[in-house]
Amino acid sequence: MSLPWQRHPGLPVVPPAVVGELLGSWLLRVAQVYGMGLRELLVRLAALRPANRVSVPWYKLHQGHLAIDPLASALHRTAESVATMSAPLCDRRWPAELGYCGQCLDEAASVGAPSPWLRRWLHPLALACEKHRTWLEPVTTKHLREIRRVSDIAGLPRKTAHWSALQRRRESALIAGALWLETLVTDPQEHHPPWGKTDVGQLAKILSSLIHLMMSPAAADMVRHQLGRGSLPDRRQRWACQTFRVDDGLNGIVSLAAPDHLRHRQFVFGLLGCYLRFAPADRAPLKKFTSLIATEIPIWQLARWSPGAARWIAPTSNSSFGPRPKSSLRTNSARPRKPTPPVGS
Ligand SMILES: [Zn+2]
Repeated sequence: MSLPWQRHPGLPVVPPAVVGELLGSWLLRVAQVYGMGLRELLVRLAALRPANRVSVPWYKLHQGHLAIDPLASALHRTAESVATMSAPLCDRRWPAELGYCGQCLDEAASVGAPSPWLRRWLHPLALACEKHRTWLEPVTTKHLREIRRVSDIAGLPRKTAHWSALQRRRESALIAGALWLETLVTDPQEHHPPWGKTDVGQLAKILSSLIHLMMSPAAADMVRHQLGRGSLPDRRQRWACQTFRVDDGLNGIVSLAAPDHLRHRQFVFGLLGCYLRFAPADRAPLKKFTSLIATEIPIWQLARWSPGAARWIAPTSNSSFGPRPKSSLRTNSARPRKPTPPVGS
């Protein structure tokens, strides 16, 4: 129950939140209206929990940092709607780089609207913009911590990629793969892998095995030379990988192994999405990856996957995981599907 002093009569002017906006981004804009910094606003609204003497960056603001009831009263919103805008949790730390869509920011600016930071962009698996079908731009979490005003978000740098037609086809396939994989993990109620409904924890374990394989020396020929696609990060961190424990407040906690740098995550998850979404018979351009999985994923690991997942992901493995059809695993059509672009070669 809220104490009387915790209730706020409501701020006279509150700029509306943008659909999908992160709470911290919205609060930056509210603070700007009143000519103050974010922390000062929260202190004046009695919305900062006393334990949070150390300043929390805007993008990390979560229910654990805030007194939601007085904040919601001040913003004329329900506590639940404010809570659902708050940041997901990421343990032990956030990736070194997150991503944003420059075209989304430009579009907002072109109609005089605020340039919001979307909540989705905080997830380590947010790699591409579904609307613009383009890769997100990398920004370091160090840079995000330094943002003080909403205009700093609008002013994040844009980089225009100049791709040949071939590169465009390849990147489009990777983007489609990355978006597909993101929905599997972040919206497991609505989206299921092609081998059948899979618990998100089990799916994360399968993905982690495949990510570790892609980042192993065995995959060097196929994967590592691709890292020069974008701007190269610091040489010492070129191939850093972490396990991120993400709680988005909606689907429980997911532990996910992923490269630390955005460009690496984009390539690795994009390629993995391309591989996983198509039936084994349609993966001709990705045969190197198929061979790698067959030879490098240990049998004891495959045995932990469901038979359907093992058959779909490692159809040519020497391990035994139940009966298989004699030829193609596809059952819904006899007509060959148009091959995917050669993203893995
Ligand atoms: Zn966009």
